[in-house]
Formats: sequence, C-alpha cells, structure tokens
Amino acid sequence: MNVSVVLFTSDLRLHDHPPLRAANDAREVVPLFVRDTGVDAAGFAAPNRLAFLADCLRDLDAGLRERGGRLVLRSGDLVEEVCKVVAEADADEVHMAADVSAYAHRREQRLRRALEAEGRRLHIHDTVTTAVAPGGVTPAGSDHFAVFTPYFRQWSAQPLREAFGAPRSVRVPEGIGSEELPSRDGLSGLSEGLAEGGETVARKRVTAWLRSGVQAYEDRHDDLPGDATSRFSPHLHFGTLSPVELVHRARRAGGPGAEAFVRQLAWRDFHRQVLAARQDAATADYRTKHDRWRSERTAGEEIEAWKEGRTGYPVVDAAMRQLRHEGWMHNRGRLLTASFLTKTLYVDWRVGARYFLDLLVDGDVANNQLNWQWMAGTGTDSRPNRVLNPVTQAKRYDPDGAYVRRWIPELAAVEGPSVHEPWKLRGLDRAAVDGYPDPIVDLSEGLARFKRARGKD
Ligand SMILES: Cc1cc2nc3c(=O)[nH]c(=O)nc-3n(C[C@H](O)[C@H](O)[C@H](O)COP(=O)(O)OP(=O)(O)OC[C@H]3O[C@@H](n4cnc5c(N)ncnc54)[C@H](O)[C@@H]3O)c2cc1C
Repeated sequence: MNVSVVLFTSDLRLHDHPPLRAANDAREVVPLFVRDTGVDAAGFAAPNRLAFLADCLRDLDAGLRERGGRLVLRSGDLVEEVCKVVAEADADEVHMAADVSAYAHRREQRLRRALEAEGRRLHIHDTVTTAVAPGGVTPAGSDHFAVFTPYFRQWSAQPLREAFGAPRSVRVPEGIGSEELPSRDGLSGLSEGLAEGGETVARKRVTAWLRSGVQAYEDRHDDLPGDATSRFSPHLHFGTLSPVELVHRARRAGGPGAEAFVRQLAWRDFHRQVLAARQDAATADYRTKHDRWRSERTAGEEIEAWKEGRTGYPVVDAAMRQLRHEGWMHNRGRLLTASFLTKTLYVDWRVGARYFLDLLVDGDVANNQLNWQWMAGTGTDSRPNRVLNPVTQAKRYDPDGAYVRRWIPELAAVEGPSVHEPWKLRGLDRAAVDGYPDPIVDLSEGLARFKRARGKD
C-alpha cells in the first residue's frame, strides 16, 4: 500500500483539511509536524505562540488517536526532517497547505527540489489557510489587489469549495518514531491570561459565537470594554479553524452581524494576497512616504513608555497592558496604539510590529506587518495621513472608561469618562490617581511633527 506524508504547518486541525483528505484516500498516512528550527532562528518563536502551539499539537494528536492514528513530531530543518520521514515510511508523496511568506515560499521550493530528487511528489493545497487563495481573484493588469473594497466585491462573488468533515479513521504505518509532544508547562515569559489552543476549544468557540455573539458583531465590534469580537485570531493563525468552513457557517447564520464578520475574514485574505505578491512588504514600506522615522536610538524612552503602558494616555496604556497580560489586544486598541507610535510619536512601524510579534498569540506576518503599514500610512490605506486622537477614540469606544479602569489600577478609583484625561483632574479626583504618569507628548506637537515629516503642514 502507498504511503503519504501530511505535513501540518499552520493548519493544525482535522476538520476541513484538504491535504489530509487527499492523502487519506485508501492510503496509510504519516501526520507530521516539524518544529522548524529555522523559525526559531528567525526570532519568530515567541513564548505565547509556543504555548498555544503546544496545546494545538496535543489536541491534534488526541484527535488523530481517536481515529486510530497519531501525530509524528520531529525537530530540525524542516526539509531535512520531512525527507527523513519520507524515507523511513517509504512514502511517495507529501501533502501540505500553501503559505504566503517569503520564508514559507523558499522552504516549499527547497522541499519540492529535495523530494523530486528522490522521485517523490509534493502537493500544495490552496484554501486551507484562506477562504479564497492569494491570486484567486485579481484586478485587471495586476497580480494582487491594493485596495480592499474592490477586492471584497470579487472575493464575495467567488464560489467557495465545500467544507469537509474530519476523517473517520487515519492509518499510520508502524515504526515511525516521534519526539515527545511539547507542553506549555515549563515555558517562561508567558502572558498570564493567555488563551488555550487546540481545535477542540476552537470549535466550541465557533458554536457559541454563532449562537450568541455574531448577531451583535456589526454594532459591537468596536466596543472596547464589551470585548464582543470572536477572538478567533489565534485559531485562524494556527489553523485550528478553517476560513472556508467559517465563511460557510457564518453565511448560514445570516444577518448583518454575520456579514460584517465575514468581511473581516476577507480582510485577512486581503493581507495574505498582498504579502504573497509583495513578500518584501513584511519588512519594507509597501508604498513608501520616504519617512525618516524616529528609532530606538532617537526615541528610546518614549518607545519604552509605549511598550510598558505608561505614555500617560490611558486608552493607549490600557491596550498595551492588555497585550502584555493576554498576548492579545482588541482591534480598536491595536489601531490606536499603532497610530500613537507611528504618528503621534513618529516612530518606525517596524519597531511596533516587532514588539507586537514578540507578544501576540495571533502574531502573524501578513496580518501584523500589513496592519502596521496600514496604520503607518505606508500600506494600503487610502488616507495614509490620518491620525487617531487617543482621547477622542477613548471617548467614542470606551465611553464610560470601563476598559481603562480594567487595565490600569492606578486609575481604578477615577469615575466615568474623566478617566480618559487624568491630567485635567482637580481636587479629590486628582487625589484618586495613584501614581499614573503625565502624558509623554503633547498631542498637538506630535501631530505637527508628523505633518511636517509628511510635508503636509
Ligand atoms: C497594528 C495591528 C496589528 C495586527 N496584528 C495582527 C496579527 O498579528 N494577527 C492577526 O490575526 N490580526 C492582527 N491584526 C488584525 C486584528 O486586530 C485582529 O485580527 C483582531 O483584533 C483579532 O480579534 P478577533 O479574532 O476577535 O477578531 P474579529 O473582529 O472577531 O474578526 C474575525 C477574524 O477576522 C480577521 N480580522 C479581523 N480584523 C482584521 C484586520 N484588520 N486585518 C486582518 N484580519 C482581520 C481575524 O482573523 C479575526 O480573527 C492587527 C491589527 C492591527 C491594527
């Protein structure tokens, strides 16, 4: 009987898994995950994501065991490890999901060459980690969309493949050794409130979300204290949820909330098709504004204050403290902290993107770098010079100040929306502020510096 290897990467699930479905067709299968040391060397193995990954791998293994199989884990150079397993199992083909980063592309090409040199085949499957494949819809005369609205129009009209169930059984050949699965115990530097990973918890979240969360999504997705978004982002990043299946299920649920939610899933695909076409956008400006950014060297103290959540702007600081505590931040928080760093402080977007990637459990090259570029005005935003005022934003999206009080104990005794401008407090209210810093920058001075830098003054 022929043997296939299914190489799991950022698709750590059994439901709606095209590579597994293709390989499981009357064959023995080696479900393989390689802890790629190249990813560690690139500085991408942040503790929060390693912990979440460990949960995902354990859950995947448990799901495979329920079906008669198991997960094989190896560590090392991914290409070498896959080739070793292929030789041990005498497999004739490897199935894996398509990916978009430059690193993933280079790795895929090396793997293809190495396998073909041994007479084996590599099958790459689209629509495993996106609903619509990068390049699946394109504008006339270009390989990718640079503007979301027309992309979304075509994306929405694109017929999706059906979503597949999980396999009933998986037969793994005997004698293929595996390393011990990792666990989050013993990992240091984890965020205290880090979410749990794995397909089982992810699927429970989806059921609960479609039953009682998504309907209000359109109205409440920007409500900072309400925390009314899906929190699927780490599950989408590690692929414990399938975007295709999510779109189908949300569309079946129907209504304006589900539509708004599906639109966000399209944003995710949008950034992936930009990065697939412009892989240098992970580090270089997508549309440069010739900024001469301030850096760690020239704005070190302000950058530290931003990272530690002590800029003196409560909503910025609350969001940065949420990031540190949970390894996750609300989208509105991400927007306004990124605007504050890149525009009010005029610091290089790469400094902020790096810090987010060090902590975010959903830290994702496409979504993170391109959202940072969006906010820095070097990306796909059609209003590249917009600046979010943290006080106005706070009053709109945290009207009573509950989000700020949740994350900033120094301000817990300040009542109502006045918590957003503690520097204006007087008398007893002022006395209630317990050691919270004054603003590190005057907003109008920050704005003037940014306008000058962009030649808009
Ligand atoms: C500066 C900055 C950095 C970001 N970094 C990341 C990152 O590293 N990883 C990441 O997954 N998202 C990132 N985002 C996008 C967004 O903030 C998160 O996806 C979202 O907050 C996750 O919460 P949720 O799952 O509850 O989202 P929901 O609002 O429930 O949305 C559902 C899903 O849609 C996708 N989505 C939502 N908003 C966006 C968006 N603006 N761009 C792309 N996809 C989106 C996500 O996959 C999300 O899980 C970033 C945004 C900004 C402004």
